[in-house]
Amino acid sequence: MMRVGVHGAVGRMGTAACEAVAGADDLELVAAVDRAAPGEERGGIAVSGELKAFADAECDVVVDFTVADAARVALPWLAMHGIHAVTGTTGWSDADLDELRSAFGDGPAHCLIAPNFAISAVLMMRFAELAAPHFDTAEIIEYHHDRKVDAPSGTATVTADRIAAARGDAPWNPDPTEHEVYPGARGGAGPGGIRVHGVRMHGMVAHQDVIFGAEGQSLTIRQDSYDRSSFMPGVLLACRRIADHPGVVIGLDTYLGV
Ligand code: NAD
Repeated sequence: MMRVGVHGAVGRMGTAACEAVAGADDLELVAAVDRAAPGEERGGIAVSGELKAFADAECDVVVDFTVADAARVALPWLAMHGIHAVTGTTGWSDADLDELRSAFGDGPAHCLIAPNFAISAVLMMRFAELAAPHFDTAEIIEYHHDRKVDAPSGTATVTADRIAAARGDAPWNPDPTEHEVYPGARGGAGPGGIRVHGVRMHGMVAHQDVIFGAEGQSLTIRQDSYDRSSFMPGVLLACRRIADHPGVVIGLDTYLGV
């Protein structure tokens, strides 16, 4: 039975993760940490304010849903203590990823960084990658709830990276814009100049359109997470399989074999 801890346990994702782990027959929730609410209870256990609680509870794996500043400290700490890390936290820079690769190295603890745990999102990114070489223009619109602090979303940045990589050296059609009435109206220019637009909307959870265009046609790949429960099967799968995936893995794809 894997012993699981949750970091960011009283947040929206952390609370859902505690409940999902506590409800799984083959996983045991043994520690919950959140600096905001020590003393609260999640998934039937008391929340601690200290990372040390993960080592004290002898966690095999910790699920992290916090903010990049907190995860930047917590993940190397987990690596140092030989505890696997599954993080859904977004807002990582390339330098952060390099640091995580050196923290986990080929040590006993493994790390999964999943910008999106929903299988529909994993497939959306894969389909976008397949479409990329066949079109002349591509743009991404991501839609999230109105408490999200980073933009664009981790899913959008990974999607843009993967589309750009799948496209290779073939150029996109040039952007015709000469003047923006409102600065930023054309979105942010990601890898290969792919425009990424972020919408923050009360009532939404996490959604994305990837739009491809070619002469006389377009293709829109749309993904919707209507509820945080959409992420939980992926989180549980990651906890169950992380011991088989050494080093730092980005994206749930390899875990799903897609
Ligand atoms: P939230 O604000 O509801 O929760 C974040 C929690 O982290 C809070 O309870 C906060 O107290 C805690 N926290 C912050 N700093 C901390 C620290 N130093 N030590 C301990 N706890 C700390 O946010 P959320 O909606 O639950 O999202 C959390 C993260 O997960 C975000 O980065 C978000 O983008 C990401 N997310 C990922 C997925 C995915 O599928 N990968 C899905 C949804 C959200």
